[in-house]
Amino acid sequence: MVNSLLRKIEGIVIRSIDYGESNKIITIYSQETGKIGLMARGAKKTNSRLSSISQLFTYGHFLYRSSKGLGTLTQGEIISSFRSIREDLFKTAYSAYIVELLDKLTEDKQPSASLFSLLYNTLHYINDDYDAEVLTFIFETKMLYVAGIAPQLDVCASCNQRRDRYLAFSVKEGGFLCSQCLQADRHSIKVSEATQKLLRLFMTLDLKRLGKISLKQETRAEIKEVLENYYETHSGLYLKSKRFLSQLDKFD
Ligand SMILES: [Zn+2]
Repeated sequence: MVNSLLRKIEGIVIRSIDYGESNKIITIYSQETGKIGLMARGAKKTNSRLSSISQLFTYGHFLYRSSKGLGTLTQGEIISSFRSIREDLFKTAYSAYIVELLDKLTEDKQPSASLFSLLYNTLHYINDDYDAEVLTFIFETKMLYVAGIAPQLDVCASCNQRRDRYLAFSVKEGGFLCSQCLQADRHSIKVSEATQKLLRLFMTLDLKRLGKISLKQETRAEIKEVLENYYETHSGLYLKSKRFLSQLDKFD
């Protein structure tokens, strides 16, 4: 018999699904191993010691027995349960979308310190009442890099020239269009200079240094339209959490 090993990781639960009558299968995004799935036996029962540690968004230390297949969670210690996210429907909806997006765009067991930090800081700020929609924009923009489908934001996406001004964003061409290239895509989205600057900022911003960002309603609408259409066309993803978020948005 092969000895199984006990391992300890620090991470955040990004997915938690029921399995059988009393178990859960959780997915953790951790500093040490990246994304990893674990069986949490008995975690569905409220009196189980694994029940609270296995909840979505829980940030903690996890001890598990590794094996060839799915490892088994044996113990956990909560660092933060991001309580204010759980207690607010809108924060929950944004956060659920963020963790699902991360889950869908990453492979198992490929650690990334920067991605862990991005996830932690995004949830931390949402928990702390920062603007969840703006944080989601930043997360979505950065994840385009991770997915390898980042748009061109420094030169015109059609003629590749650096210009002083761009007038629109083309999902098809994958970036901004200058005045001479507007005809390259008749479905391009008209974007203001503020939107262009913010999209560039979101790409490079270190979230740890996030200050107060206040956005006009028109700017929000433009960024949202760009990101939504871009994801739809280039990512091939269809996320339930995204649909729920769009439905909630109508009541905002
Ligand atoms: Zn051009």
